[in-house]
Amino acid sequence: AEEREELTWDLFGSAGRELARTVADDGFAPDLILSIARGGLFVAGALGYALDVKNLHVMNVEFYTGVDQRLELPVMLPPVPNVVDLTSKKVLIADDVADTGATLKLVRDYCVDHVADVRCAVVYEKPHSTVKCEYVWRRTDRWINFPWSVLPPVVRRDGQVLDA
Ligand code: 5GP
Repeated sequence: AEEREELTWDLFGSAGRELARTVADDGFAPDLILSIARGGLFVAGALGYALDVKNLHVMNVEFYTGVDQRLELPVMLPPVPNVVDLTSKKVLIADDVADTGATLKLVRDYCVDHVADVRCAVVYEKPHSTVKCEYVWRRTDRWINFPWSVLPPVVRRDGQVLDA
């Protein structure tokens, strides 16, 4: 099997701090962080504390259904945040990985004409990503195991318990 990139909880602690440092060193002071759920929530939380930003928003986007298994297009799941509320704001979009870049592109395009500045921060960016993120912790072309999604759910949505 092809080697995977493994992000542990421990390494994620450093990644969040280092990613925040690159944003701060660049002089970008976002008014709010827009996370892309679910993976981006962890990244947004870490960046929110490290950058001292308390205003966090969430967009729910579904695209992947398994390892390299995608829907045709990423789709926003309601409720979608009202970008009119974000006028004149500097927005930092946070996600775990830019792979094809389609998810970030969807969210960035949704914001770009409504806000003062929009930039993207990701833990990983893959070389073929159509969106080139302003802030990237590491680059890889492998499939990444994230600590929050490497284990199966403890319960299935149909109520069957998988793991005690
Ligand atoms: P994209 O739209 O850039 O192709 O993919 C973005 C989303 O797909 C990520 O936020 C993540 O949820 C999922 N994804 C893409 N590549 C990987 C990967 O290598 N590992 C994992 N665990 N998820 C991925």
